[in-house]
Amino acid sequence: MQVIERIPAGTACCWLLRGETGSVLIDAGMEHAEKILKQARDAGVRLLLLTHAHFDHITNAAFLARELGIPVALHPADLPLLKNQFSRPLDAQGVRGRVLRYFSQKLMQKPLEPFSPEIQLSDGMHLDTYGVDACVVALPGHTAGSVGVAVGDAIVVGDAMMRMPTLSPPLIFEDRQASLESASRIRESGAKLLLTSHGFTTCRRFFV
Ligand SMILES: [Zn+2]
Ligand SMILES: [Zn+2]
Repeated sequence: MQVIERIPAGTACCWLLRGETGSVLIDAGMEHAEKILKQARDAGVRLLLLTHAHFDHITNAAFLARELGIPVALHPADLPLLKNQFSRPLDAQGVRGRVLRYFSQKLMQKPLEPFSPEIQLSDGMHLDTYGVDACVVALPGHTAGSVGVAVGDAIVVGDAMMRMPTLSPPLIFEDRQASLESASRIRESGAKLLLTSHGFTTCRRFFV
């Protein structure tokens, strides 16, 4: 039995995956760094895995990795975004997408504390080294290096799907076609529980 907990972290949430012999923190968030640190410490987190390199998922990454003394994992395709959030153009779908992009790009101008991911994520990579029974799923489109984490009947999808307010493919993306293919991949994965970084959920804890 493994547990996934939702941790509020600003506009995007983090997910804490607790395994039998260790835990993985999925995304670092933008706010509430001290609270996230305490929960991660209590859970014995051994890896900070970033679903992608947008500011709302990585702002706390340098702080959390340093305080916890753990490595950071990111797909290499998103490394350019660490240096410059505007290194690739972001497209938008519909009015809601354009509004979201406008506010996102305003926040992207804020400086980020630099950090270097020690681990490069790839499709199918198992995370058992870090005490959890889960694996990485490549979900490009929102960003080129977007990934999800499949665990039991659940999949944590980052921004590869969004609940804004209903579940849909991302409203902002680098590659629309790739994002739709990733959404199909999620649907075809057979996962019964789909955990997004953005959007409303009433439940904070899931047993998977
Ligand atoms: Zn996001
Ligand atoms: Zn994003």
